[in-house]
Amino acid sequence: LTDADIAALDAADPLADKRALFDLPGGLIYLDGNSLGALPHAVKARVSDVVAREWGEGLIRGWNDSAWIDLPFKVGDRIARLVGAPAGSVAACDSTSLNLMKALTAALALRPERPVILSDTGNFPTDLYVAQGVAAMLGRGHALRTVAPQDVAGAIGDDVAVLVVTEVDYRTGRRHDLAALTARAHDAGALAIWDLAHSAGAFPVDVSAGRADFAVGCGYKYLNGGPGAPAFIYLRPDHVGAIAPAHAGWMGHAAPFDFSLGYQPANSVARMTVGTPPVLGLSALDAALDVWDGVDLEVVARKSAALGDLFIAEVEARCGAFGLQLASPREASARGSQVSFRCPEGYAVMQALIAAGVIGDFRAPDLIRFGFAPLYVRFRDVAAAARTLERVLREKLWDRPEYRLRAKVT
Ligand SMILES: *Cc1c(COP(=O)(O)O)cnc(C)c1O
Repeated sequence: LTDADIAALDAADPLADKRALFDLPGGLIYLDGNSLGALPHAVKARVSDVVAREWGEGLIRGWNDSAWIDLPFKVGDRIARLVGAPAGSVAACDSTSLNLMKALTAALALRPERPVILSDTGNFPTDLYVAQGVAAMLGRGHALRTVAPQDVAGAIGDDVAVLVVTEVDYRTGRRHDLAALTARAHDAGALAIWDLAHSAGAFPVDVSAGRADFAVGCGYKYLNGGPGAPAFIYLRPDHVGAIAPAHAGWMGHAAPFDFSLGYQPANSVARMTVGTPPVLGLSALDAALDVWDGVDLEVVARKSAALGDLFIAEVEARCGAFGLQLASPREASARGSQVSFRCPEGYAVMQALIAAGVIGDFRAPDLIRFGFAPLYVRFRDVAAAARTLERVLREKLWDRPEYRLRAKVT
């Protein structure tokens, strides 16, 4: 496309004014919002107010006066809208890994006679580690079975207790069909837990229509809650009464301040919470969620698809000679809001690209990955990123020893 074509795409973008809600450093193109979302301005003011006034002056009165105690559910309700969950069915708490652990122990207890936890080899490793850990902890012969992503539906047999899958593959962006796989699981008598880490805030998710039993996801990716932000957990409302939390804690109790000696779970998703809510993190996430006010996720999904399509076209046109291969589905409806390429020397290439002002990331063994957060990424950013990638490859800017030194976090 010409510069004029790209300017026309930005001019016609219904989300264009959302970018002004974010703090984005000048001279930088940020294509890693799928891993750590950018900072919404509102977060800075909110966090400093919570620290200085609510905590500094209010002290312990903040639990009531500033309603800190309700934050997991206030924030949960705001996330609920983004994932198609009814109000009152989502809590913001803990990490995605821990929420998955809580969901999995609860789900396995609902299918005590079945030994298999089914997942796929495209799943994010923490999900697989959690499943392995839960199976070992229960000591009742559970086993994790992983199959290739395209084989999941066919592998749901009557020994499967729970299907644990991530909707969008973190490496390739390939998308599972939440409703179809959940229906398949239910037909076989199994439950379905969905990890929405790369879905929430990227496109419309509908856990209600899809009949997901549980869902979990991150607060720091497309939801922009900041590094290590609280995660979320969805519990389908009709399961509430049947779930006996293995991770019982006082915040999941029906009346924590009765201080009674026996655990009596709250009659809501609150029973999936455990300990004292992280107020600073939840306040940041709450303020970050303001950027979604009035946003139609269908519009977000359309822009996401167009950004990805443009990036694929530009990279293939410019960088085809350098051994790059598209690793993501070409069809936008089959992928999340990210695009990856297999790239020889991918780690060094990404380091050089970052040095040249385009931030994406690298996923072993050979993927360079680019995420498109539709609220703040422009078409011109995507086009410029492809041009910079071409320059890095053509001029071999990546070929420096320091770009091959792997940092702790890739
Ligand atoms: C990012 C991500 C996680 C991260 O889990 P944490 O507990 O927040 O570290 C989990 N699952 C998937 C699919 C992810 O992409």
